[in-house]
Amino acid sequence: MRIRKISASYIFSPNTGFLKNGILSLCEDNRVLKITDTGGKLTEEAKLEHYNGILCPGFINAHCHLELSHMLGKIPRNQELPGFIEAIIPGRKADTEEIQKAIAKADSQMRNEGIVAVSDICNSPDSYAVKSSSPIHYHSFIEVLGTSEASAETAYRNGQNLVRLARQKFSLNASITPHSAYGLSELLFSLIREGRGASDTMFSIHNQESEAENDLVSTANGKLFETFGKLGFDLSSKTPQHKNSLPWLMKQLPRDIRLLLVHNLYTAEKDILDSDAEAADIYWVMCPKSNFYIGGKGPGNFLMNRFSNRICIGTDSLASNDKLSILDEIYTLQNEHPEIPLDKLLTWASLNGAKALGLDKWFGSFEPGKKSGVLLIENADIQNLRLKKESRVKVLA
Ligand SMILES: [Zn+2]
Repeated sequence: MRIRKISASYIFSPNTGFLKNGILSLCEDNRVLKITDTGGKLTEEAKLEHYNGILCPGFINAHCHLELSHMLGKIPRNQELPGFIEAIIPGRKADTEEIQKAIAKADSQMRNEGIVAVSDICNSPDSYAVKSSSPIHYHSFIEVLGTSEASAETAYRNGQNLVRLARQKFSLNASITPHSAYGLSELLFSLIREGRGASDTMFSIHNQESEAENDLVSTANGKLFETFGKLGFDLSSKTPQHKNSLPWLMKQLPRDIRLLLVHNLYTAEKDILDSDAEAADIYWVMCPKSNFYIGGKGPGNFLMNRFSNRICIGTDSLASNDKLSILDEIYTLQNEHPEIPLDKLLTWASLNGAKALGLDKWFGSFEPGKKSGVLLIENADIQNLRLKKESRVKVLA
């Protein structure tokens, strides 16, 4: 067996931390054989590749909408969520060829950025063909949305059909998910709960991205309520719940399911208590660049401190981002929260995302047997172990 040995200024894996001048040994098929702590001594070995920079496992993008890639640059910044939704629903229609080209380009950009697995939201089959032939591992969450009780059955059946198509015709990992607390009627939530199959082990749900979401659930009023009304949604099923969005959402969901809750910008301590979220299997997905694009506000300290071992990183879509790069996302977080050390950011970007998607057997760290991908972060501040504006990812394996 031919073994490839790679060394760098530092090797980082969530299970070992930073190893100065460590050596990573890979089998011929790029599976991890072992990681060697050299005690910082740079060893001379035949055929040892050495790089300046930081080696780390492939990144996991814990939230994306690949099918919206053609919307790059089309929606103005800082409109806040109601304005963003108002622009995206009519704006997502486009020429089929343009949509396909943009999806293929975005998939290839993610590969070059060292992303090895993606949690991808779908409302259509547009992204299926590209994903089925990509080396990236995708989980397709087929998003179900609909506030009207009268059309709940239809919305659910459409979702099921999209799941079946993804699995049977494109051999994709796919499952149904509710869009958000505010975007579904109680009837639609119950159809999802009752129709759940054995392979539906996780949901990915947009949570508390705006204050208007809390208003909609608690008072059946506010900016988001008005936006949906303007877009022609039937809101007659929405009644005041006198509680924030998260506690209401948790009551609609089965307890034995893993949740990827996305954005969480307006999740307060009381919401965690009121929904008993501490006891649930929740991963909190942060999409800082998208958050700044849409509303000028980024993830706060609270969840990142409280649930540090359950934070993951997503890019969201090119409708609210200029690039699908996890390195850019963690660089943005480092700027906003300089107190967060790089080992934490890299763990959020790799192992935590892999755990959230149930993929940590294969991805997320340099542990023997994993085929995690190997990235070199170049142009980092090696002395202080921090990212710089000019830091870049190079995919080594
Ligand atoms: Zn999203």
